[in-house]
Amino acid sequence: MKYYVLFGPPGAGKGTQATAMVNNYNLHHISTGALLRKEIAAGSELGLQAKALIEKGCLVPDEVVEGMIENEFKTVTGVDGFLLDGFPRTLPQAEALDRILAKAGTEVTATVSIMIPDAMIMERIKGRALKEGRADDASEDIINTRITTYHNQTEPLIAFYEKAGKYHEIDGVGSIDEVGSRIFDVMNKF
Ligand code: AMP
Repeated sequence: MKYYVLFGPPGAGKGTQATAMVNNYNLHHISTGALLRKEIAAGSELGLQAKALIEKGCLVPDEVVEGMIENEFKTVTGVDGFLLDGFPRTLPQAEALDRILAKAGTEVTATVSIMIPDAMIMERIKGRALKEGRADDASEDIINTRITTYHNQTEPLIAFYEKAGKYHEIDGVGSIDEVGSRIFDVMNKF
């Protein structure tokens, strides 16, 4: 089983690229953001708690997303691996992921990081807002909070995965196909 982490700032194109990645390598796509939006749509207790945080551009508590990931690992079968999209987003989440995988005698295969300059993040998210109508894409203030959250809490993971020899950065500027083929060049090594 392969365990890929799909990493990058908001708007880098993780969701867009994930579809081709899961199809090509028979992976199960786990987007913690999509799972949380599903909980919100279902009106569950968890969804209600997550909604306020997500709509402010803040992260939900680590334990919530860690539980979701562990549950997906336990319940999904018939795949060659998992693609984690939007998880981990904090150092404690990355450490929890290592522990969860170690319990199963395995480890993260590789982190594929799609990088775009900060100036492009706002532009990309505003484009997505028109298509998807996500509440947390609706205002520049919320987007700015997510960019700050990314720099403060998520970016330290680059050093974490570099130290583990698992960090593979891809230039996210270009067409969907161009970025996709850069990603496949990396994934074909594993
Ligand atoms: P995304 O769809 O990945 O952009 O996630 C949307 C929102 O869901 C984020 O801005 C966070 O509020 C929340 N979220 C998603 N994944 C995580 C995570 N791993 N840890 C904490 N919050 C998360």
